[in-house]
Amino acid sequence: MLALLWWGRHSALGDWMPLRWSDLQPQASAELRAWQYVVIHHSAGEVGNAESIDRDHLSRGWDGIGYHFVINNGAPLPPGRVEWTFRWNLQRHGAHVAAGEMNRQGIGICLVGHLDRHPPHPRQYERAVELTALLLKHIPSLAIERVVGHGEVPGASTNCPGAHMDMHEFRLAVSRKLADLRQP
Ligand SMILES: [Zn+2]
Repeated sequence: MLALLWWGRHSALGDWMPLRWSDLQPQASAELRAWQYVVIHHSAGEVGNAESIDRDHLSRGWDGIGYHFVINNGAPLPPGRVEWTFRWNLQRHGAHVAAGEMNRQGIGICLVGHLDRHPPHPRQYERAVELTALLLKHIPSLAIERVVGHGEVPGASTNCPGAHMDMHEFRLAVSRKLADLRQP
């Protein structure tokens, strides 16, 4: 439980329920940043969650997990479970993109899995679409054309989030979901 408090919160009670903006509220003391980008990553490993990624990033000398959100794949946490980390709770800059100013401007979302080898779990993909649409709905400084894969960031030389993560398709899916969310 202590670890949970330190690296973040998750949607444990609602794996099959729609994500709600009220669940994602950062700490009251942390003012929502004027985020410009959503940057999608894969973990490039088949097993993991926010806690294990946090340990890994700490071992590299970073100040903890570099992402704001982690979306699980079933190993070990249920597919589609969303975890949000201390970076989101405290509205801290990310540590997920080496190029440019992206860490200060971009919300980092990591899908657990090696998406160069296989597509994301369908439920995991659905949740990534849902989470991204919810962020776009509630953060007016974001825009659909600034939802990017890590490899699409100018100056980045990586094929993250993997060959099986089609960012064009993803943006279309987010646009459709956003239209749904905006229905009265
Ligand atoms: Zn990446």
